[in-house]
Amino acid sequence: MCPICHSEDIDELVGWGDFTIWKCRSCSLLYALPLPTDEDLTAFYQGFLYNRPDKREFEKHVAHRRRELKKLFSLSADSKNKTFLDVGAGTGAAYQAAKEIGLVAYYQEIDQEARAFVEESYGLENDYVLDTLDDVGRQFNYVLSDNVIEHLKDPVAFLEQLRHLVKPGGRIVVKTPHGGNKETWFFPMISLQGYAAKALKYGGMANAARTFFQRTWACDPPRHLYSFTARSLRQAALNAGFAEEEIQILFYQQPLFKYSVTERFFDVHKYNSLRQWLMRLPALIILPFEIVSKVLQLLFRYLGLLSPTGISLVINKNKL
Ligand SMILES: [Zn+2]
Repeated sequence: MCPICHSEDIDELVGWGDFTIWKCRSCSLLYALPLPTDEDLTAFYQGFLYNRPDKREFEKHVAHRRRELKKLFSLSADSKNKTFLDVGAGTGAAYQAAKEIGLVAYYQEIDQEARAFVEESYGLENDYVLDTLDDVGRQFNYVLSDNVIEHLKDPVAFLEQLRHLVKPGGRIVVKTPHGGNKETWFFPMISLQGYAAKALKYGGMANAARTFFQRTWACDPPRHLYSFTARSLRQAALNAGFAEEEIQILFYQQPLFKYSVTERFFDVHKYNSLRQWLMRLPALIILPFEIVSKVLQLLFRYLGLLSPTGISLVINKNKL
């Protein structure tokens, strides 16, 4: 039975080591079974979220986040001193961006190393850290959760927690990968290297072909346990107690050259050792193919043939 819409019309799609990836024919949710144990997850996430960011890269990232937050939460001069919470805030780019915009920013993260980084780099103080999402005893104007929900065993319970954390009239934005999107076909370092090659290892050619053609990306247990579509994400929000009128679904796109050979081999700021200069020679052969594929991708995007890589659940609480 589909864990979100409870339909019995489900397909067993892909073997993934100890897991199987299923797809609901009714809401198109992709989901993994069996769910990992809490102990397995704790072991899996040790040091997972934390990558000490490069200073220059991080500043660019914060600037990008400032623009993104203004748009996502429709921020204006009136928004100053309103409260903002980032749930699963990682290395704190959105937290820092919110502070720079003039919001009172709060931070929640289970990765202690990431938290230590934000304390050290951006002066995060204990008063602005949430250790748990239950019984917080206060509510926030804006709540962001960026690429967290797909990792959790119970996404509906998570959305219920967020529902209690936002003030009436406030907004929640939950970003997550878009299940079954077509655009990932144009990111071969993800579709082929990240998914088809792993599926091949787990279950041979037929398994790899199903992953590629059924587009099971973003569901790769024990990391991502769910991959949401518009229907399944909306249904999850309804199950969590939000009203139809409060729910809005938006999509977002990955930058064209993200996870590309161009980005991987030709960013001279990031990769400038002798070895990396030498690796550029073989990579040059792939470059013309990549350029052609990116032109095609742009054309298909323009024609509306590619479903985007990201999906956002936007909730305006008690909008009525
Ligand atoms: Zn379903």
